[in-house]
Amino acid sequence: MVINIDFYGDKAKKRDTGTNCRVIPMANEENKQQFLEMLSASGELPVGLSTFKAFADPFKPKPWYQHLSDCSDDQVQAIEEETKDQAECSSWHQQRVGRVTGTSAHRVIHTSLEKPSKSLLRDIVQKESRKNPLKTPGILWGREHEKDAIETYKYALGLTTAYTAPTLINISSDIYKPHTSISIQRAGFRVSREKPYIGVSCDAYVHCVCCGKGVVEVKCPLKWNSDLPADKRGHLDTLLSLRTNHSYYTQV
Ligand SMILES: [Zn+2]
Repeated sequence: MVINIDFYGDKAKKRDTGTNCRVIPMANEENKQQFLEMLSASGELPVGLSTFKAFADPFKPKPWYQHLSDCSDDQVQAIEEETKDQAECSSWHQQRVGRVTGTSAHRVIHTSLEKPSKSLLRDIVQKESRKNPLKTPGILWGREHEKDAIETYKYALGLTTAYTAPTLINISSDIYKPHTSISIQRAGFRVSREKPYIGVSCDAYVHCVCCGKGVVEVKCPLKWNSDLPADKRGHLDTLLSLRTNHSYYTQV
């Protein structure tokens, strides 16, 4: 039996029971307090401190609105990285809570400062959750066709050769012109570093050597799903640009 094995030699036995054994006094309350204060002041925040009421404050989760102030470049980058799946990932929904986003920007600009719209405030602090996404015909139509629009755009830029999207191609000549080293990248939720209560998610980033950086925002309104000429569609003007007083313009 292991229990019966004597692991200690004579020297060790003498040390354990002998006279030169060091006596460590029990810590009193004052000692404990000093020790905890020392740990707390170390700047390392050892997690054990969270079990003492007087030292637990730094471990409590911050209220959501405190996340809306102070955002470093690294945080902006990290938020965008983890929200690249946009509406498909929960972090995208979480990061939008409490922030003015592209979708709400137009209403925020036009609401009264003295008496802001209650439904707008509710939309900003609640936001749509991933578990209960809105499923209005317009939203479903938009989600369904946004990828067709991106495919069409890539085709127009010469990034794909096979065109499969069922979208009617109506693309302006500045897109058709040849670009040098053009690429399209996915975009996540981009928080403003200077004004962290504002954040937007465009549909993609486009970059080429000749024109520089740009954002891609796709709009597929169900309302204009018809054979109306493009310039009769509410958000576009006769030059196929966005009307400057339209909410899409504010968003972009
Ligand atoms: Zn270019």
